[in-house]
Order: sequence, then C-alpha cells, then structure tokens
Amino acid sequence: MSDTTQTGCCGPAATRPHTAAAPRTTVPAGSTEPPIAVIGAGPVGLAAAAQLAERGLDFTVLEAGDQVGASVRQWGHVGLFSPWRYNTDAAARRLLEAAGWQAPDPETLPTGSQLVDDYLTPLAALPQIAPRLRTGARVEAISRAGYDRLRSVGREDAPFVLRVRTADGSVEQIRARAVIDASGTWRTPNVLGANGLPALGEAEAAAWIGHALPDVLGADRHVFAGRHTLVAGAGHSAATTLIALAELAQTAPGTAITWAIRGADASRTYGGGDADQLPARGRLGTLLHHLVTTGKITLLTGFFTDELRPLADGPEHGGIRVISRAPDGVEQSVTADRIVAATGYRPDHSLTGELRLKLDALMGTTPELAPLIDPNLHSCGTVPPHGVDELTHPESGYHAIGVKSYGRAPTFLLATGYEQARSVTAALAGDWEAARDMRLELPETGVCSSANAVGLGTGISGGLLSLPLVTSGASGSCCG
Ligand SMILES: Cc1cc2nc3c(=O)[nH]c(=O)nc-3n(C[C@H](O)[C@H](O)[C@H](O)COP(=O)(O)OP(=O)(O)OC[C@H]3O[C@@H](n4cnc5c(N)ncnc54)[C@H](O)[C@@H]3O)c2cc1C
Repeated sequence: MSDTTQTGCCGPAATRPHTAAAPRTTVPAGSTEPPIAVIGAGPVGLAAAAQLAERGLDFTVLEAGDQVGASVRQWGHVGLFSPWRYNTDAAARRLLEAAGWQAPDPETLPTGSQLVDDYLTPLAALPQIAPRLRTGARVEAISRAGYDRLRSVGREDAPFVLRVRTADGSVEQIRARAVIDASGTWRTPNVLGANGLPALGEAEAAAWIGHALPDVLGADRHVFAGRHTLVAGAGHSAATTLIALAELAQTAPGTAITWAIRGADASRTYGGGDADQLPARGRLGTLLHHLVTTGKITLLTGFFTDELRPLADGPEHGGIRVISRAPDGVEQSVTADRIVAATGYRPDHSLTGELRLKLDALMGTTPELAPLIDPNLHSCGTVPPHGVDELTHPESGYHAIGVKSYGRAPTFLLATGYEQARSVTAALAGDWEAARDMRLELPETGVCSSANAVGLGTGISGGLLSLPLVTSGASGSCCG
C-alpha cells in the first residue's frame, strides 16, 4: 500500500510506502473547537491546568512521564530552597482546599518528592484535572494544521497540531486551539563540551556520565562509593553533589572527588564568605571552599572539557580520561571513574521547529523576557514581574512558560512560573485586564539556596564538616 506525497511546488508527485500506521487525529467529542494543550504536568503545567479549570476553559495536559512531576521526581531526594508558601499556585490551592486538602506548613522546605506527593499528585487527581490529563504522552513536534512555517494567509485561524508519542510507541495527532508549553528543561541538560557542543567522544562515553544531582548518599551510593568522581559545573547542582560526595568519602574509603570549572577560580561559587551580603550563600560557599582548601576536593580551574576517552569497554571495567583544551592552548587532563555533568540545562526548541518563534540569541527566551532574567543582572528574587506580554511569540497562541521560558538562565522560581501561568491563561480567556495585572511578589533573599538543597535533606551535617549550615539563603543562580 502506498500514498501520494507532493514534494514541493515544482517537484514531481512522489509515492512512498507506509512504514507505520497513519497517525490518528483526535478532536475531543462534543466540542466545537479543540482544547488548549498544556505540555508537561510539572508544577507549572499543572498550575496552568488549575487556572484553565477555574476559568472553565477546555484543556488537555500531555505529560511524557508515567506520572505527574516526572522531572521533579528525578531530584526528589534534594530539598527545595524555597519554603512551601512559595511553591504552590493560588488557583491550585483554591481547588485543592475546596476538596479538603490541607496545605503543608508554609514555612517548611519540602524535598522534591514531597512537592510531588503532597501537592502535585493530589492536584492532578482533582476531578477538574484528572479526566483531562494524559501521562505517557510525549509531544514530539508542534505545527499548525495545513501550515508549515512559511505559509501565512489564514495561519492564525488554523488549529495547532501536536504530534504525540504514547507509551506503547504509537503516534497520535492532537489538535489544540492554543499551546502552553511547560515542558521544562530537565530532559535536555547541557553537554560537557566547553563550547556548547558535545565533547569529542561524549556520546560514546555516555555510560560513564551521570545527570546532575545523583542521590549520592542514597539510591546511587553504590555508583560513587570507593570511586573517583569528576564533577563538572560551577552552580548549585555541582555544589550539592560535591558536598554529598565529601560526606560519602567520610564513610566509604577510596572515594575521591575532583571538581572541574571553566573559570580561573571558584570565587563565584564560593560567594563572599563572611562578607557576603547574603549570609547563607556565604556559609554554603565557605563550606565548599573549606572542602577544597583541606584537600577533600581537588579543584581544577580553567578546565575546558574538549575530549572524553574511555579506558575500558564499560565503567565497571575501567575509568575515563577527560581532556581539557583551553582557548589559550593550555591542555590538562584527569582520569576518573565517573563524571557528574552539572553543567545546567537548555530548552528543547526542536519541538517547535515548524512554529514562528522569536528567540533571544543569548538565552533562548523571548527577546522581551531576556533582559528581565539575565543572570548577570538578576538573582532569583529580583526578577521583575512578567506575563503574557513578555511570553508572546510571532506564532500567536503558543506560549512557553515555567523553567522552559527562561531558556538557559538558571534563575527560575516556581512563584514566577505560577504568575506566568495565571497571566497567559487569563489572556487565552480574553481577560486582558487580569492578564496584564501582574502580582508577583518574591522575597529578594532567602529563597534561592539552602543547606537543605546542599545536603541536609540527604544527611550532610554541619557538625561533621565543622561548619554550621543554615536552612535558607539566597544566591544569584538557583539551580545551574
Ligand atoms: C534541584 C532543583 C531544585 C530546585 N529548587 C527550587 C526551589 O526551591 N524553588 C523554586 O522556586 N524553584 C526551584 N527549582 C527550579 C524550578 O522551580 C524547577 O525546575 C521546577 O521543576 C520547574 O517546573 P516546570 O513545571 O517549569 O518544569 P518541570 O518540573 O521540569 O516539568 C516539566 C514536565 O514536562 C514533562 N515533559 C517534558 N518534555 C515533554 C514533552 N515533550 N511532552 C510531554 N511532556 C513533557 C516532564 O516530564 C515534566 O513532568 C529547582 C530546580 C532544581 C533542578
């Protein structure tokens, strides 16, 4: 059996054999226009769902994982650095409380798992959301029905088409009148290569490389105990892992730790110590500094990862050589058993290749949002309120919200994402007054890092390392 495909304006009509079943196109029964599609059932996607439910708008949430909060679950053992009062959405709270939910103590710091178990899971189970939520549904691409990126006339009236791969491997096409893309960045971590491209041999070395934030003192202990780990990256994910590894080294002989950063020194990660205007950041940095100066962690500065050379046919049989080639020609290398790539995240723009997006050249956000969240200028708490006006692309009806909206900036906070969700859903409802009435309130300090985030939740004790840790603090970079 074959079908006929027009290859372009001037090419011959070609035939090609079917290689798979034709995708089905789903338009929910009884509705005159398709629903709004929300991509991702993380905290911000579910906040959008709650906002849409309150406004009585039809929607469908498509979640790639087999449960809601699938990405947060991956770092479930890590403590959040912001307390509960900043971690829940107002519409979600209203719906939950009407169903008898009891909000957790607003001043306590949940772990990622608690955020999923105590908030996202009950939210997703509400009757206003559960029938409209599909797990195991990964959006692979988005376009507009009958319109490639080039075609303009009538474009805005054409529904979106989302190509969705389901858990059983089949493909569906789902129509939507608008798309709220809250798919996050967790699934697309940055590569190890210092120039943003995968280092030479990085793909072949995948078995030696782990994602940021492994559960070093828990489920992943066996991976790191008695081994030499190289941690690459200069943000809080790297610091969290380094401090956990230092804790592990106290009870697992042979555990060795090397920390590689591109910078000439680690002062930005250390912060200002006692002189830091943010005391908690100062203490966190001081702890890491202490571990480096006492030789528990070997710091390699000016390290520009360029090539990875496995020394065996698998990590259980041997280590890996990591070679740095700096722009000034200086070469250095280190041999380790494992690598933790704590090099940050980037949004997956491949989903939207057929849409008309305008992206800031530096950070991959909308150009209007970029200057508001530039990590060189803003910490988590100083990002100004923003909403639909800053989140609008030339492709009308498509909005990325949540951590994806921040592109490569590491300063995203849930509270910001909830306000984005509120503004965008108000605009989709035609309520422009509410959409532009921005109400974001973030404390300037006290939410961006905590000892919990660097180990208290996993057993690191201040006393053990002879340095007091605190339970809240702030930093210019949340999670990179
Ligand atoms: C370790 C860590 C600690 C953090 N601590 C805090 C904190 O204390 N306070 C704070 O405010 N922020 C914190 N953040 C930052 C941020 O709030 C979180 O990253 C948060 O999870 C972002 O929510 P989100 O809904 O935008 O994205 P995510 O939580 O990443 O959710 C995205 C969802 O989309 C799904 N998905 C992805 N691709 C597809 C697809 N193609 N099709 C369908 N579904 C898809 C994923 O499975 C996932 O469920 C932290 C981040 C990290 C990594």
